Amino acid sequence: MSEKEFYQYTIDETIKEFDVSQDEGLNDDQVESAREKYGTNELEEQEKMSWWEILWDKINDLIVYLLLFAALLSFLTGEPIEGFAVIIAIILSVLTGFITEYSAQKSVDSLQSMGSTSAKVRRNGQVQEIDSADIVPGDILILGEGAAVAADARLIKTKNLAAIEAALTGESEAVDKDAEEIFEDEEGIGDRLNMVFQGTAITRGTGEAVVTETGMDTEVGKITEMLHDSEKNETPLDIELDKLGKVIIVAAAIAGISVLITGLITGQELTEMFHIAVILAVAAIPEAMPAVETITLSRGMKTMAKHKALVKSLPAVETLGSTSVIASDKTGTLTENQMAVQKIRLADNTEYDVSGTGYTPEGKITKDGEEVNLDEHTELKSMIAYGLWASDAELTKEDNGEYDIIGDPTDGALTVLAEKMDITRDVIKDAGYERIDEIPFDSEAKYMAVHYDGPNEIVVIKGAPDVLFDMTDMSDETHDTWSQYNEELTEHGLRVIALASLEVEGNDKGKSIEEIVENHPNEFTMAGLFGIIDPPREDVKESIELTQNAGIQVKMITGDHPKTASVIAEEIGINNSENTMTGKEIDEAYGQDDFVEKIRETAVFARVSPENKLQIVEALRKEGEVVAMTGDGVNDAPALNGADIGVAMGIRGTEVAKESSDMILTNDRFGTIVDAVREGRIIFENIKKYVSFLFSCNMVEITAIFLATVFLLPLPIMPLHVLFLNLMIDIGPAMAIAFETGEEDIMERGPRDSNQGLLNKQFLGRIIFSGLVIGLASFAFFMFLGQNESLTLEYRQTAVFSFMAIAQLMHIFNVRETSRFGLDRTLFKNKFLVGAIVVSVLLLLVAVYAPFMQTIIGTESLRGITWAYIAGAGVITTFLVYLLNKLIVRLEK
Ligand code: ADP
Ligand code: MG
Repeated sequence: MSEKEFYQYTIDETIKEFDVSQDEGLNDDQVESAREKYGTNELEEQEKMSWWEILWDKINDLIVYLLLFAALLSFLTGEPIEGFAVIIAIILSVLTGFITEYSAQKSVDSLQSMGSTSAKVRRNGQVQEIDSADIVPGDILILGEGAAVAADARLIKTKNLAAIEAALTGESEAVDKDAEEIFEDEEGIGDRLNMVFQGTAITRGTGEAVVTETGMDTEVGKITEMLHDSEKNETPLDIELDKLGKVIIVAAAIAGISVLITGLITGQELTEMFHIAVILAVAAIPEAMPAVETITLSRGMKTMAKHKALVKSLPAVETLGSTSVIASDKTGTLTENQMAVQKIRLADNTEYDVSGTGYTPEGKITKDGEEVNLDEHTELKSMIAYGLWASDAELTKEDNGEYDIIGDPTDGALTVLAEKMDITRDVIKDAGYERIDEIPFDSEAKYMAVHYDGPNEIVVIKGAPDVLFDMTDMSDETHDTWSQYNEELTEHGLRVIALASLEVEGNDKGKSIEEIVENHPNEFTMAGLFGIIDPPREDVKESIELTQNAGIQVKMITGDHPKTASVIAEEIGINNSENTMTGKEIDEAYGQDDFVEKIRETAVFARVSPENKLQIVEALRKEGEVVAMTGDGVNDAPALNGADIGVAMGIRGTEVAKESSDMILTNDRFGTIVDAVREGRIIFENIKKYVSFLFSCNMVEITAIFLATVFLLPLPIMPLHVLFLNLMIDIGPAMAIAFETGEEDIMERGPRDSNQGLLNKQFLGRIIFSGLVIGLASFAFFMFLGQNESLTLEYRQTAVFSFMAIAQLMHIFNVRETSRFGLDRTLFKNKFLVGAIVVSVLLLLVAVYAPFMQTIIGTESLRGITWAYIAGAGVITTFLVYLLNKLIVRLEK
């Protein structure tokens, strides 16, 4: 037999193996030495690159090879200065690429660690919450409902424990766990009932377990390892940019070959032709591109974090920008989650109003406007007391005098109601009652139950009215009446909770609460209904309006009653809020031809199960929507995983939800999603803008050189000038575009078509035509200067070089805004851009006037009149490009 595995160990063997005390856990020394031996408990998501690997990645690049080849050609054709300049260009480009990527990786790491998960362990005799990464083999994990299992571990204690292991086994049913189970033979992972595994989630019960494996040694770790062996996955954006780079290189190659052919036909010198090929290669290559891309994305990630949205990966930043549907939780995300009972309905259709807001336990109960005395309304009194019995929340008073609750907000509302009437837990105790058992609330079953012992034994259940009505003993007629009451309350947008009770007698005494409920499926007695108000968050209406104006649909998803949900949806301005669908209707429609259609048209999904959530996500994605979906529970994990952007609640969310998501809202606010989408859009726009800028600048150079060769004229611009333009003049402004804060109307356009990448016709058209126009202008300028025979070739080349620099800097204004000319007040919001333009102009002056630069790159001092021509020609050219862009947009429409 192979080596014994931990599921084959007994509890005692496990404890002995790790030399851990069951009551104390590990001590600090043990943790220390285990850490040294096993390292941290982390999965290497994607193999982390060390600094030299990143550096090599930057060197081992087609662009670098092309440039090296160009340098070689320069040396061979007797142009050593040029050769050295190209080498400097290579070094600069590799270094900027390396530095930005390295620092971006650092900041991604630190952001990811902010979003890291925590786990409860016992160490030094105390239960403490630690970062999951700090767990070591031998640690004792403390497990409870909603916990994410942070490492593989052998259970040593279980009570009612169940886990969902879908992540490992694909099995979506929860598995019952049992520490006492012993295995002699080999078992599959799904059958190792005495173990829990990293990446799975506890759905109910409690337990303790000794950690047996961490990090890459866990079962999930092994799977991750296998994934690593397959291809490193590139982001869609990377692929797009690669494609674009290739297009440009092909364009340059075509230009080079045509030059070569023209040269040969017209009998020009071969070395001269090679020389030109070098320039074309240098001109075509976007040396600054990789650096700018990394800067943009990592800056976006940081900005989002500032807005309280932790995004876990760089590609997610960009996907966010194309979100077309946001499916949001109601309770807590769209509403305050500060609940208060506002109305109470009893069996005889008496309705009571409760005053007071929030959790402050001050308020009165009135009936038809008159304050009621509880002692004269005994049924009301016992209804309120039962509410407290079945509540799992505690009211606390903070130092600043404000009240808050610990526990479920719905339960909090009932606790506060009781406190308003001076009914406290002490009162229950004094009356001789004590809770002996309970069925906790479960959003699938939508009710909870408690079992009290005292002068008599009572089970109280509370939950969604439609569920409870079926568990109570009533005639059809009474059923209709209650349904009617329920409807009336939901029409006010109230969250309705029903309450019913059952006296435990005879045989049932001593039985578990589950058995009692099962034995009396419909014999409970209805006590009444609570109408609870959960006001929408203040800023939600505004955010929703913003979202819908941005062409993004908002859908509400809730476990609440459809009417309540619809009323609130309308209140906060969700479009088509009257189109509701319940979980039951989803189940019925699922698999039908018109299912997808129905989901699309529906704005409010009520009484949904977690499975429904996944069905909704999948249907929408099938239609090509990019879906952001929020969730907080264990059961939301599949839907969060399935959505394009899974959004977990940072405060309310379970660890599992956070792990399954792409983004965590550290403030649980809907508005934060909107901020993140906005930021994502800005980033995509900025990427488009600097790509457009860099490539059209390259086109300028290619065009001018190509024309000169075809017309058998001297070169209007020398290779070193091209390098100076690409590496000194253009790079600063291009990087600064990453800091553009977005155009005003960025949230007034529809979401971008997710199938349409960067390379659409309009975008390419703009790049090519802008480049052609400025390139033609440069050539024309060169010809124009040639009419004055007193000017040397060097002078003319210096002038063309300066013209290109100025025209390219002016071209920024044609790039930074899509619908307007970009020279306006908003320019000054981007201090980097203003600074970069100033620096570029200064660099240009240095290149033209500094004696050492004149010797190196062969420039001559320009006279004032030439600058006047340059400025004039620059303005005219920029205006022409502007008109042309307008025309392209018009033609597209
Ligand atoms: P959501 O969070 O979307 O409002 P839930 O799953 O929390 O949905 O609640 C669904 C329904 O279950 C509610 O409409 C309510 O009737 C009932 N319910 C919610 N919380 C409790 C609770 N603590 N005790 C009893 N019933 C509850
Ligand atoms: Mg809830």
